[in-house]
Amino acid sequence: MAAIKHRRTALERVEKFLSDTYFTDCNLRGRLFGDRCPPASLSCFQTRRRIPYQEAVAQQFGPAQVGESFGPTWETCWFKVELSIPSAWAGREVHFVWESDGEGMVWRDAQPVQGLTKEGEKTSYILTRSLKESEPHSLTLYVELACNGLFGAGKGSMIAPPDPDRRVTLSKAELVVFNRDVYELLVDLEILLDMAQLLGEENQRSFQALYTANQMVNVCDVTDPSTFPAARDLAAAIFSQRNGESQHTIHAMGHCHIDSAWLWPYEETIRKCARSWVTVVHLMEHNPELTFACSQAQQFQWVRSCYPGLYARIQHLAAKGQFIPVGGTWVEMDGNLPSGESMVRQFLQGQRFFQEQFGRICTEFWLPDTFGYSAQLPQLMRGSGIRRFLTQKLSWNLVNSFPHHTFFWEGIDGSQVLTHFPPGDSYGMQGRVAEVLKTVKNNKDKGRVNHSAFLFGFGDGGGGPTQKMLDRMKRMRDTDGLPRVQISTPDQLFSVLEKESSQLCTWVGELFLELHNGTYTTQAQIKKGNRECERILHDVEVLSSLAAAQDSAFQYPASQLQQLWRLLLLNQFHDVLPGSCIQLVVEDALQYYTEIRRAGAQLQEEAVQVLCRHLLQPQPCSTHSSLVLNTLAWERTEVIASPGPDGTETLALVTVPSMGYALVQEPFEPPQPVAVRKQEDGSITMENGVIAVCLDTMGRLTSLQLLDSGRESIPDGCYANQFALFDDVPLYWDAWDVMDYHLQTRKPVTTLLQPLEITLAGGLRGSVSFSLQVGKNSTLTQEIILDATCPYLRFLTQVEWKEAHKFLKVEFPVQVRSTNATYEIQFGHLQRPTHWNTSWDWARFEVWAHKWLDLSEHGFGVALLNDCKYGASAHRNVLSLSLLRAPKSPDATADIGHHQFTYAVMPHQGSFQEAGVIQQAYNLNFPLHVVPASRAQCPAWSAFSVSSPAVVLEAVKQAEDRPEAVVVRLYEAHGSTVTAWLQTPFPVKEAMLCDLLERPLAQGHLPLEQQGLRLSFTPFRVLSVLLVWSH
Ligand SMILES: [Zn+2]
Repeated sequence: MAAIKHRRTALERVEKFLSDTYFTDCNLRGRLFGDRCPPASLSCFQTRRRIPYQEAVAQQFGPAQVGESFGPTWETCWFKVELSIPSAWAGREVHFVWESDGEGMVWRDAQPVQGLTKEGEKTSYILTRSLKESEPHSLTLYVELACNGLFGAGKGSMIAPPDPDRRVTLSKAELVVFNRDVYELLVDLEILLDMAQLLGEENQRSFQALYTANQMVNVCDVTDPSTFPAARDLAAAIFSQRNGESQHTIHAMGHCHIDSAWLWPYEETIRKCARSWVTVVHLMEHNPELTFACSQAQQFQWVRSCYPGLYARIQHLAAKGQFIPVGGTWVEMDGNLPSGESMVRQFLQGQRFFQEQFGRICTEFWLPDTFGYSAQLPQLMRGSGIRRFLTQKLSWNLVNSFPHHTFFWEGIDGSQVLTHFPPGDSYGMQGRVAEVLKTVKNNKDKGRVNHSAFLFGFGDGGGGPTQKMLDRMKRMRDTDGLPRVQISTPDQLFSVLEKESSQLCTWVGELFLELHNGTYTTQAQIKKGNRECERILHDVEVLSSLAAAQDSAFQYPASQLQQLWRLLLLNQFHDVLPGSCIQLVVEDALQYYTEIRRAGAQLQEEAVQVLCRHLLQPQPCSTHSSLVLNTLAWERTEVIASPGPDGTETLALVTVPSMGYALVQEPFEPPQPVAVRKQEDGSITMENGVIAVCLDTMGRLTSLQLLDSGRESIPDGCYANQFALFDDVPLYWDAWDVMDYHLQTRKPVTTLLQPLEITLAGGLRGSVSFSLQVGKNSTLTQEIILDATCPYLRFLTQVEWKEAHKFLKVEFPVQVRSTNATYEIQFGHLQRPTHWNTSWDWARFEVWAHKWLDLSEHGFGVALLNDCKYGASAHRNVLSLSLLRAPKSPDATADIGHHQFTYAVMPHQGSFQEAGVIQQAYNLNFPLHVVPASRAQCPAWSAFSVSSPAVVLEAVKQAEDRPEAVVVRLYEAHGSTVTAWLQTPFPVKEAMLCDLLERPLAQGHLPLEQQGLRLSFTPFRVLSVLLVWSH
């Protein structure tokens, strides 16, 4: 019989043969399942808590029925399911089918065995592939059903705040006979139909696939399985027609992106991991070729402690190379906001965990879903044993299409890593023909590389790969017209990419995501908690290391610090620190910060007690004085508030040596006191011999001068410290996005509640304060503070924020002309344009920075410092700091309430490097510690100092596994090549350079010289020095 001539009827005929909507009474799909039978009994009990299996099965179970609904949201319903398989089903494949809109987990013999989640296309648990008479026909299963979906419980839309009253329905629970031969034919036909439709009429393979599928329908009698093999042979014939040698190869790897918290709380993630991973383990039993790339040490740690049986199986499969730990970090963290040291700890905690648990560190950094990537990451990866990086998030760019999928990425110090973006632009592939074709077509490096990654499996809320995905890809192994699809591993892929790398291009600098720029600002309390806790852990580590070096009886709190670091690192997950999570997650995150603050304060006190014991213990003739500690590695002269004998606070100007302490008793007089004067028009001037400012009644700067040169910072007629409110309604991703058009809705905040008045008249400190009405419902009170000798003006700000979809910023127009502004990033800085020439320039209308940003021309500039903000911009001559947003999804209460934050403005002569902007920004973030002391006199003491202002000593900590050694981390901060001496009074036995995992470097031995240790830096180089004490 001749082939039919009408393409469309042929296509739709095959479609209908596979349809689960039409003609299921007579088509192939309708034959997928045979006989069915209900469970012998079904009972349940419900709980608000997420409880272990042993506790659950001991409860009283009451009757339950299919069709019933359970809830509300976040509750858990445990089902006891008694099954009795009819003996008439001998020889048949029998499934337990469970359909519900909640996330289910099957337990059998007290072990989790499989996740059952309709959204993740997992509704069948296979009881037997072929029922034997010898096997038990009766069994009991438990199903743990979470009353939330894969994506939480958003009311009306995925990212809407959770509906607290959502109920989940049990729509199916039964035993069925599964017709495997029908299933295999369905998969064959689905692939052929996709090939026919997607390869297009200009491709003859499209017609070959179509005519084969049509012929298969002709051959198939759905009521007679004996006709199926002939149909399958037709499919096999076309699938086995091979490609030529030049065909693209797709490296398929199972994957399951699980957000460590997002639209559900951390606690639910633990169960998501178990549900997803046990399903993978189960799949591997029947598909020994399946590989699964799995990131985030924290998630492994959760499964290890809550599901030890499953974890043991994972370790076994990891040893076989099937279950593949990747990433090397504690969590898939945000790529912009964590400090340099935090990023180091992500790798340190992650890689050490992987080494300890799986016998090897990860060789690929894995961050497929994070909102942009710091230009310091290549160096941090290289320092952590990683040369390869995988992500795909830049495919979300709103403006510019990133020009590569495989390239070398070069960081600010020149470190390079081989980087791959799966060209299919997804980490949740399903093994469809459309996806493999997109992967080839979309690849921007055609001709340079011929291999790419393909991550398959449901993700974000968990789920992972399915049998069907694997079965699809088996048919596409090597079929002419489609790329070759091989199950592979990250190592296999990157190894071939490395071999092919000679033609690859290089991208220098940050991988900026042109979307989600609101995440630098959303959930201000989380940002503040992060910055503050980074500081707390820094200080505790410094002081504890010094205490331990001073007194070998002091127990360095290594395990407590590890636990606190892990909490901080967890909160840096890419939906928590960015603020794109639900309220439940925010509450957990803030609780973790509270824990770090509490434990940190205690540990700090214990360290100071030991480090300064001789100054703190009451003496026979005690005098009152204050001990001032400086945890930064440069000398500081600052005004401190020190507690007096009668509980009052007195100000004092003190000088404290580099990373050390000094006693203050007699406050010394500043060279020039702060003068504060009210003018006739209500404006106030303040000056301290370094800078002079003039403030109008609304607290705006009309003048900011450097007294030395008389150089003015504010352009004529402009106001700095001008608050502005913007409408902030993005297109969809509310907590995530601020759009370019918000800039057109700028409204200066000019409603005065309390005009400017003097609150401290001067001397060591002068201050003024005022209040503004912000928008309809919010108020802002600010104290503007100028300290003696201080080069910056500080703005201590309190806001009662009750807005909806508004964005508050503060602006500093400055008299500086430059086409680039400089922003602090991890262990360094980078420049971004102040103009909007090209699409790459204007797409960065809102950017991120750490402690400071600066706009400088030759010889002069103005820096903006902050103590907990990350969003910023510099357009033309206006520096803006992003202060507060008010998105409503996924947390309707985001940022509503009280806020306190500080920023500062610092005009300077020369470059920001010469002016010490970097150090001043550290000073603002790391206040001196003041402790009441009992001694009157003691020489000032310094534990570490560095001879070059270009080098920042960032961290001092006890070496992992080596209590007799410390690791000192330093970086070059100016962008210069420099040699510096590191000095310490402690007796050093041995010094060597090590990597970020604290492994000594080859030729890393450092000679001990008279002046200390000589360290050589190139721009932005991070060095870790292992110091072994002699005692
Ligand atoms: Zn994610």
